[in-house]
Amino acid sequence: MLTHKLYVAGQWMDTGTNIDVCNPYDGSVIAKVCQATSEVTERALSSASAARSTMAQLTARQRGEILDRLSHAIARDKEEIARTIALEAGKGISFARGEVDRSVETFQFAADEARRLCGELIPFDAAATGSGRFGYFRRYPVGAIGAITPFNFPLNLVAHKVGPAIAAGCPVVLKPASTTPLTSIKLVELLLEVGLPAEGINLLVGSGSTVGNAMVTSEKLDMITFTGSPGVGLGIKAASGIKKVTLELGSNSAVVIHQDADIQKALPRCVIGGFANSGQVCISIQRIYVHRSRYEEFRTAFVEAVKQAVTGDPMQEQTLVGPMIEEREAERIEKWVQQAIAEGAIALCGGKRRGTLMEPTVLENTTERMTVVWEEAFAPVVCLMAYDNIEEAVARVNDSQFGLQAGIFTSDIKTAFYAVDHMHVGGVMVNDMPTFRVDNMPYGGVKLSGTGREGARFSVEEMTELKTVMFNLN
Ligand code: NAP
Repeated sequence: MLTHKLYVAGQWMDTGTNIDVCNPYDGSVIAKVCQATSEVTERALSSASAARSTMAQLTARQRGEILDRLSHAIARDKEEIARTIALEAGKGISFARGEVDRSVETFQFAADEARRLCGELIPFDAAATGSGRFGYFRRYPVGAIGAITPFNFPLNLVAHKVGPAIAAGCPVVLKPASTTPLTSIKLVELLLEVGLPAEGINLLVGSGSTVGNAMVTSEKLDMITFTGSPGVGLGIKAASGIKKVTLELGSNSAVVIHQDADIQKALPRCVIGGFANSGQVCISIQRIYVHRSRYEEFRTAFVEAVKQAVTGDPMQEQTLVGPMIEEREAERIEKWVQQAIAEGAIALCGGKRRGTLMEPTVLENTTERMTVVWEEAFAPVVCLMAYDNIEEAVARVNDSQFGLQAGIFTSDIKTAFYAVDHMHVGGVMVNDMPTFRVDNMPYGGVKLSGTGREGARFSVEEMTELKTVMFNLN
């Protein structure tokens, strides 16, 4: 079996030590990948640090063209990349193709940002001491960026870091999740094919606690952009010193089905939002609050629809719920469900697991403080709860450690705006699932869901520093 090398300091490197990459559906080893030693990690960090001026000197036209070509190359190799995602992450193949399509757009949006990156004139003479001065501010690249990414979107969440970094003129050290490095290896091959300067990207594979931590604490990097779990994110913020840090973390996303909701419209969105990728999506629906007057109607139809969800082999076209990434994750969520049932919850369907496959599960009679509601489930489990008025629903949506996105289905504009104004989250989706995302919108959370925003324009803002320039014309 081929052992994939790492890409460090402008060359593919065999580190002499490797890890197995496994298919989470059947446990088979699908590839071997070299693992970064501490020496290799240091080489990558030094290389990125030294590449700051090379990347900063690329013109907007060059950065835009590299990203355009990358976007086209990904579209060309769509089927190969989608199969890699399905194999290493266990994502249903049709959703894996959807992820590739989104990444094509993500890199296009980044190309657009590369071309429009600019600044603004400053009206110095509005200040008492500013007359006779002319000036502006403009954005400069932040420097070398460490990008640490999770397993659940092995291409598009990497795209959200690498694309804007290139648009901003920054070299990147990329560390994908140890379970899903193959998609990143392919991406680096494409980056080199489309003409990124050789030192503009470094790829390290290795555990978060060693390689990831070395990146976070290194003085050679100027910024860490992290997507992953809240616990790791908090540790990164504490350990990263003066570096810029953006954190895209987890959630226990809620959707409200109000008394005037179009339930036929809401149902399929709630099934997809709760169960696609086995609920291993940061904005997966974990809580559904249904107005008491519609609760029975919604519950019956929802449970019926969830029972139809195709579960199993990610390589089957119809699969919605594939395996969880590792068996211990499936064991964890099975335990949380059992604990909730012991505390009074009722399983309307599902609740059991076979290996890495957790059955699509709907619980009712849950409360906000049960672990399966309060913590991020990150699994195919949805909790139904009834409420009496919109103020109560919004208060219960906000009764959470997290605040990434929320949804509300209503046909009343005042109710919609009440939710928009009072839900304490990074995004409110009206008449859609909280799981809705396109890749040019600002995306990120409040509270334990993180800090900073992604989406090409907003990531580029995070990855650049403003510099003020003043000419004294007196
Ligand atoms: P994770 O366990 O936190 O891992 C994420 C990345 O961090 C991996 O590359 C991991 O490396 C690395 N890491 C682990 N410990 C580290 C440390 N001490 N220092 C530096 N890096 C470290 O998360 P995951 O299980 O892959 O992904 C699921 C989580 O990501 C969920 O909480 C989900 O909500 C969140 N997520 C958030 C968003 C968003 O945009 N807000 C999107 C997707 C996912 P190893 O793999 O080698 O351990």
